Amino acid sequence: MAKIENYNFKDKKAIVRVDFNVPLDENGNITDDTRIRGALPTLKKILDDGGSLILMSHMGKPKGKVNPKLSLLQIRDAVAKALGRDVKFAPDCAKAQEAARELKPGEVLLLENLRFYPEEEGKPVGIDKNDPGYEAAKKEMKERQKEFARTLASYADVYVNDAFGTAHRRHASTAVIADYFDNQDKMLGFLMEKEVKAVDNILKDIKRPFTAIMGGSKVSTKIGIIENLMDKVDNLILCGGMTYTFAKARGGKIGDSICENDKLDLALDIIRKAKEKGVNLVLGTDCVAADSFSNDAGTMVCPADNIPDGWQGLDAGPDSILAFRAAIVPAKTILWNGPAGVFEFDNFTAGSKAIAEAIVEATENGAFSLVGGGDSVACVNKFGLADSVSYVSTGGGALLEAIEGKELPGVAAVEDK
Ligand code: AMP
Repeated sequence: MAKIENYNFKDKKAIVRVDFNVPLDENGNITDDTRIRGALPTLKKILDDGGSLILMSHMGKPKGKVNPKLSLLQIRDAVAKALGRDVKFAPDCAKAQEAARELKPGEVLLLENLRFYPEEEGKPVGIDKNDPGYEAAKKEMKERQKEFARTLASYADVYVNDAFGTAHRRHASTAVIADYFDNQDKMLGFLMEKEVKAVDNILKDIKRPFTAIMGGSKVSTKIGIIENLMDKVDNLILCGGMTYTFAKARGGKIGDSICENDKLDLALDIIRKAKEKGVNLVLGTDCVAADSFSNDAGTMVCPADNIPDGWQGLDAGPDSILAFRAAIVPAKTILWNGPAGVFEFDNFTAGSKAIAEAIVEATENGAFSLVGGGDSVACVNKFGLADSVSYVSTGGGALLEAIEGKELPGVAAVEDK
C-alpha cells in the first residue's frame, strides 16, 4: 500500500472516495460541514502536488434510484468554497469518462451520488432475501458491481480512500474499486490514516491502565465490543441505560427503568467473565431517578438496584460518578462510547459530563483518549470538550466494528495483496 504523504500526485488523476454525506436542511443547505472539512488535508495535498481530483461520495439512502433530494449538486458550491476553486459536476457518476478525460492538473470533478446506482452497494433490488431467485440475483449484482467499480477506476491513475464512515462496507467505491489499481497506486487518505491509527492505539499500542467506558441505552448493541475489550482493558465502566439490565440481573429492583429482559443472562455472563479475566468492572451503584421520561420530571437520587415503581433511572448518581472518575483519571488509554444518561435532556447530563471532564483531565496528564460512536461525540460537542480529548472519531458503525476487532473492507482493500 502506498502512503499518501510520500506519493507525488503531479499530473495524476486521483479518484478519492470521500464521505460527503453531510446533513442538509429542507432547502438543501448544509447544516454541518464537518465531513467536508475532514477531507481537506487529503484533497489539498493532491491539488498542491499538481494533481487533479475526481471526488466520489454517497449521500443518504436513495436505494439505487435517482433522487434529486439526495443530489450531490447541492453541495458543489460548499466544496468549491472549501477548496478555493471551481468544482465541475458529473451528473451521472457512471458516465463521467469524458469529463474525467478532460480534467487538467489542479481541476476538480465531483461525481453525482454513487448510491443512485444499486451497483454501489451491490445488493440486489426488488427481490426479497427469502425469494428462490435471490442467490442468483445476488451473484448477478456482484458482477454488475465489479463492472461499475471498473468504470469508476477507469477515470483515474490513482485511488485514495478517505471515507472512514463507510470503511466497514464492501461497496464498489470503498473496496471493490481497489482491485483495479496496482499496490503503489492505492492508499488511505489522511483522515482514514488518523482513524486507523487511533484504533491501533486502543487495540494494539495500549498504554496502561486502559479504561473503556461503554454507555448508551442497550447492552445488546454493544456486546461485540464489550467482549473484544474484555481481553484488553484494566477497567470497564458500563453505564447509561444498560446499568438497569445489570441491576435487574443481580436481583435488584429497577422501577420503570429501561431494561433488556432477554439479556439478563448475558449481563451475568459479562460480570462472570470480568471476574475471570481480572477486569475491574465498574457499574453505577446509584442513579438520578425521574418520575417521567422528560427533562422537567421530578427527580431523586436512589440506589440503582432499588428504584421505586413509577420511577426510572435517567442519569448516574454522585457515588457512581466518583467511581467512574476513579477509574478514568489515572488511565493512560481511554475509549468512550455511549452516554451515561439521557444527555439530550439538560437535567440528566451530569454523569456524561463528569465522564467527559475526567477524560479531559486524564488526557492533560498524558493519556490517549478516543471518543467515538455517534452519541458520545454529540456529548463532547455539547460540553464543548471535543478539542480537549486526543481523538474524536468520525466513524459510527466503522469505528464500532473496528473496535470489535473486525477487519474493515475499506482499509483491507488498499493493503498490499
Ligand atoms: P446508544 O445508541 O445505544 O449508544 O444509546 C444512546 C442513547 O442512550 C442516548 O439517546 C441516551 O439518551 C440513551 N440513554 C442513556 N442512558 C439512558 C437511560 N438511563 N435511560 C434511557 N435512555 C438512556
